[in-house]
Amino acid sequence: MIRRTLAFFVIAAFSISLFSFSSTENTGIKKKQRVVKTIVIDAGHGGSDGGAKGSYSYEKDICLDVSLKVQEIMAKELPDVKLLMTRTTDSYPALHTRANFANNNKGDLFLCIHVNAAPPKRHSEIIGYKTVTSYAGKGKKRKKVTRKVPKYRTWTTPSPAKGTETYIWGAHKNEDKEVAMRENAPMLTEDNFESNYGPIDPNSPEFIALSLLKTKQYFKRSATLAGFVQDEFAKIGRIDRDVRQRGVGIWVLQATAMPSILVETGYITNREEEDYLNSKAGQKELAECITRAVKNYIAWLEKQQNYQDTDNNAATAANTKAMLEAVDKKEKQRKAF
Ligand SMILES: [Zn+2]
Repeated sequence: MIRRTLAFFVIAAFSISLFSFSSTENTGIKKKQRVVKTIVIDAGHGGSDGGAKGSYSYEKDICLDVSLKVQEIMAKELPDVKLLMTRTTDSYPALHTRANFANNNKGDLFLCIHVNAAPPKRHSEIIGYKTVTSYAGKGKKRKKVTRKVPKYRTWTTPSPAKGTETYIWGAHKNEDKEVAMRENAPMLTEDNFESNYGPIDPNSPEFIALSLLKTKQYFKRSATLAGFVQDEFAKIGRIDRDVRQRGVGIWVLQATAMPSILVETGYITNREEEDYLNSKAGQKELAECITRAVKNYIAWLEKQQNYQDTDNNAATAANTKAMLEAVDKKEKQRKAF
């Protein structure tokens, strides 16, 4: 009973602070903030890490070329957005360095550019038979046994896999992201943090609840952007291998406290796609698709924010529910000790 009262108090206090944040926006006194101010572009691999290998090229070089093209086109299409690169040369910044760079620069989006690879296909066929002799039984009963066994020829051919896919951090792994979010506290970097959220202790249940809320929000944003990227690829006739969630292997997506996606731009192991990925025209096309997707994402996000401004009650109700769950969970953890 006491616990419920406490939870209610926390929610009430929180709803008020969220509500007051939104209402300052409605008055129009505060200039509307741009939804995306900084985008961090991360060219995968680099330096001694070549990434996947094609018949004549390395993933790391394509990642860099496409990333630089994305930077060039985005600078023209989104002149108000600050674009930051994790690398612009053939170097290898450690993964935690890349994530820290994005977090420290208060990125609003993290875009990783990669190239896919598939292992070669194995084939085998029977090319004849050989006779194998063995013996069964012991002593005088020992008998010679012969049997025919097939002889095989085995060979490999390049995998026919082709197309693009975009990864986001797995929803079932959101607790890991929540930790990264808490450690990097993106809310603390927002303008007017104090007036928006009040004086909050990072170890308090309120702060933890807010981290959880942000994690969920960023998951939705990452998934939306990933969908837009795949849509743009599909429109120009690339094979759409869809948005995928991954919980392992994409550490940077977990460690960045912002919406983040990893784009696999094509298969280096497919000769036709290797040529496309290495061509100037292909790289330009890929960069244009990614830029259009980001523009669609910004438009979507602006619309979302307008909707939230005019529908505070619904937003507050959803937030309250998330907060209640988080506070409850934290209470249970505390009781376990
Ligand atoms: Zn890669």
